[in-house]
Amino acid sequence: MSENHVRTREQTEGRELSYPPLPEALTVGIYDNHTHLEIADGDDPIDYREQLDRASAVGVRGVIQVGGDVPTSRWSAATAAVEPRMLAAVAIHPNEAPVYDTAGGPDGTWEGGLDGAIAEIDRLAALPRVVAVGETGLDFFRTGEEGRAAQYRSFEAHIDIAKRHGLAMQIHDRDAHEAVIETLLRVGAPERTVFHCFSGDAAMAEICADNGWYLSFAGTVTFKNAQNLRDALQVIPRSQILIETDAPFLTPTPFRGRPNAPYLLPLTLRAMAVELGTDASVLAAQINSNTELVYGRWDAEPVASPTVPSYTEAIGGIA
Ligand SMILES: [Zn+2]
Repeated sequence: MSENHVRTREQTEGRELSYPPLPEALTVGIYDNHTHLEIADGDDPIDYREQLDRASAVGVRGVIQVGGDVPTSRWSAATAAVEPRMLAAVAIHPNEAPVYDTAGGPDGTWEGGLDGAIAEIDRLAALPRVVAVGETGLDFFRTGEEGRAAQYRSFEAHIDIAKRHGLAMQIHDRDAHEAVIETLLRVGAPERTVFHCFSGDAAMAEICADNGWYLSFAGTVTFKNAQNLRDALQVIPRSQILIETDAPFLTPTPFRGRPNAPYLLPLTLRAMAVELGTDASVLAAQINSNTELVYGRWDAEPVASPTVPSYTEAIGGIA
């Protein structure tokens, strides 16, 4: 594995492992509100700096780097602290919640259990440039009945963290639409709640619209078999639309299956603009304003500069 990554993507047979070419640059730039730059993918993995350079070259100005366990959340917070084009989200992913509950986390070495892992997320949520709690939620596709109690406990604890820190929340909802909505309504959703990689339909989009929740569209909205997502896009008010890659996953058409990256976000934006019958620049401007309302500006909190000593350090630490 590349030393510049925290994890390597599990490879499935027959995938094409080369990165797609850069698309034409956008006129009005946008932000990728959900990506995983800590995961190495492809035959020649790209580290986060190169990823952000390529993104900048096509008008993707910044990203929210999302954690899913303790190591990736720590990495997200630490990297966002020194990288001006990155903000961070931290959480225990719903599929990891049962693993922390009973099996010592992803690598089996965590001794704090699920409660200890959630306490660590609570600590990270207070750090500068951590702007969201996520991804959290429910996943009834990959986690079976035996893991559900841990998922609910974790989801509700993350909702509480988001509220206490005044942060946005990014929801992972896979095959659990009704249960996610029921939980949000029962315990009360954070003020800024985002369905990351929205996977519902027009009826669900209406419920989200009514509750003021945001829908973040990923490359899946370009997939031929995803008419439900294009229907949802038509229903949700423009002021509640966000956009993401979920890289390295969910690569938009026509590169489905190859490694995804923030620099491919213009493909998804342009497909959405065509679907809505509007100009990509107009849609980009709207999404930018939504993005800043939900997460704030990328330059709102200054980055720490690990290479430039503070004044006191520079003059020799005189007290
Ligand atoms: Zn994700």
